[in-house]
Amino acid sequence: MPALRVCALYPDVMNIYADRGNLLVLERRCAWRGIGFELSGAGFGDRVDPDAHDLFYIGGGQDRDQELCAADLVATKRDALAAAAEAGKVVLGICGGYQLLGHAYELGDREIRGLGLVDLRTVRDPGPRLIGNVAIEVDLDGGPRVLAGFENHAGRTLLGPGEQPLGRVLSGHGNDGRSGTEGVRRGTVIGTYLHGPLLPKNAWFADWLIRTATGLDELAPLDDALEDAAHRSARRAAGR
Ligand code: GLN
Repeated sequence: MPALRVCALYPDVMNIYADRGNLLVLERRCAWRGIGFELSGAGFGDRVDPDAHDLFYIGGGQDRDQELCAADLVATKRDALAAAAEAGKVVLGICGGYQLLGHAYELGDREIRGLGLVDLRTVRDPGPRLIGNVAIEVDLDGGPRVLAGFENHAGRTLLGPGEQPLGRVLSGHGNDGRSGTEGVRRGTVIGTYLHGPLLPKNAWFADWLIRTATGLDELAPLDDALEDAAHRSARRAAGR
């Protein structure tokens, strides 16, 4: 039986806006199809084995929580995560977790160093937090689709010149409130500001992640009446 093996990084600390719900959606959508699901957590001091998991996940967190995790993340997990990304494993970061995929998160005179898996920096702006419902258009395979969610961040994320965003902002703020870009995607490394949590509102994206992480070409269809309603409701909230 095929299985999706997920490693959640700092699941107790990096879990704002119920980001843990993303893991539940992956688990359910695998179980409903008879795909195995294994979840392990990696916290402070834990080493991770890049070959033992198909998808590495880090949720959002407040500045303080990010700061708690960042040094450990870089010291004990960076090389393994870089190797995993290199091998085509999925690395998914949400909001605070997304920021930590980049080089650094600058907070005034302090700097939190990140993993540097993607070329981006985040700067906390003294201006208003970027808060609200958001919809973005993404093109992952087979044409444009919409991801809808909720964002709340003080950091403004600037992508390096060679880096591609995950999507184009249809409504909301996105990476920095100016560029019209949201998130980052380099191959199987994906970062986004969308909470909600993200996957219950965008079941199609959960399936994309499952396919990409397991290598399964096709997934059995599910009755997504409720999931589609959740998606439509999130889009309506974002004015789309
Ligand atoms: N602490 C980060 C910021 O405010 C991320 C917040 C979050 O994960 N929602 O920019």
